[in-house]
Amino acid sequence: MISLEEAQERILAGLEPLPAEQVPLQLAVGHYLASPVDSPLDLPPADNSAMDGYAVRAADLASASPEKPISLRLSGRTAAGSTSPGSLDPGACGRIFTGAMLPGGADAVVMQEDVKCEESEPAAVIFEESVRPFENVRLRGEDVRKGALLLAAGEQLTAQRLSLLAGAGLASVSVRRRPQLGLLATGDELCEPGRALAPGMIYESNRIGLSAMAQAAGASPRLYPLVADDLVLTKNALQTAFQECDVVVTSGGVSVGEMDWVRQAFTGMGGQLDFWSVAIKPGKPFAFGRHGGKLLFGLPGNPVSALVAFFLLARPALLRLQGASQTQPPISRGILAGPLANRGPRRHFMRVILDNDGRVRSAGSQASHFLSSMARANGLVDVPPGQTFPIGTVVTVLRWN
Ligand code: AMP
Ligand code: MG
Repeated sequence: MISLEEAQERILAGLEPLPAEQVPLQLAVGHYLASPVDSPLDLPPADNSAMDGYAVRAADLASASPEKPISLRLSGRTAAGSTSPGSLDPGACGRIFTGAMLPGGADAVVMQEDVKCEESEPAAVIFEESVRPFENVRLRGEDVRKGALLLAAGEQLTAQRLSLLAGAGLASVSVRRRPQLGLLATGDELCEPGRALAPGMIYESNRIGLSAMAQAAGASPRLYPLVADDLVLTKNALQTAFQECDVVVTSGGVSVGEMDWVRQAFTGMGGQLDFWSVAIKPGKPFAFGRHGGKLLFGLPGNPVSALVAFFLLARPALLRLQGASQTQPPISRGILAGPLANRGPRRHFMRVILDNDGRVRSAGSQASHFLSSMARANGLVDVPPGQTFPIGTVVTVLRWN
């Protein structure tokens, strides 16, 4: 039995990202950048107004005050999108709107709320205050300089980062292809959800949960038909999945029972088993292997074990295949509002609820067939063997959402 860390290292060892592909920004959310992106231009591309108001030369208003207002001649009008802002003579001001380029010579904008206009003299604008140079002006390149790094390779494309790329004028971006992931569930007792349940049967829930978790990790999951507990059928199903996918994930049939065929079927079709059994709970019966450049994750059948083993062992590999710079799950620290006890001989990844105030408590029963406590949990706490974390302990929560 190997440690979780050794298992993770052996899985990631020599694992190269999948090839890059160009995708339109609209389809790029969640993808990981294949190469760094530098800004092709200054942002903003030109000095422009941050307000609706009047473009001025700040020096013209240096002595303005309520007692001694200054009147400037109104000359010109620049709206957002205007391509020829003209220029401003000393002693003049120009009507300007938010986002419009500044006329030549102007170096500040006065908000329209801060000026007065006399009806008797529509060609003049009265200013009762001075203005600092560059006040209400957005300067060319102050957000991003041309040539500066916008995003590094391996960064995930979020809504915010996609806005940045679009703002820099990009229409598409080079990202890693999503891994194709095949999901197989083995077990004579399994019944497809939606069908009537015969005695002795249970509904198959792993493919759906794993598919969702795989999608959240950027993979394209594909559900294969249920596989009976039979060596030949298991081998055939594995063969098909390995032809069509980059990563194959099985659930069930990986233990030491005489109905557990996954390992034998995998080696029988030429797969190289790297290790099996990792010293964690839940998730101990687990097999990892390679077939050509492709990966097998043989997960235990118990629904909690399957999801936890996938989260800790398969998810990092999916992220590495996409070139992600970060393959570990997001973590938060919290304070235990109730004890967490691990009486067993293996590290226990316990299902917890981390609330918005940073309090952490057990999500309920930690038995590996309890789907209800898993559904309540939003993360896991790693409790060492034979240890109890008392109330008040600061713990690290591995968040799964
Ligand atoms: P196994 O790992 O095949 O020995 O299965 C362990 C336990 O998990 C058994 O109680 C199975 O009935 C259950 N199980 C196996 N596969 C699934 C599945 N896909 N969905 C729900 N439960 C499962
Ligand atoms: Mg089974």
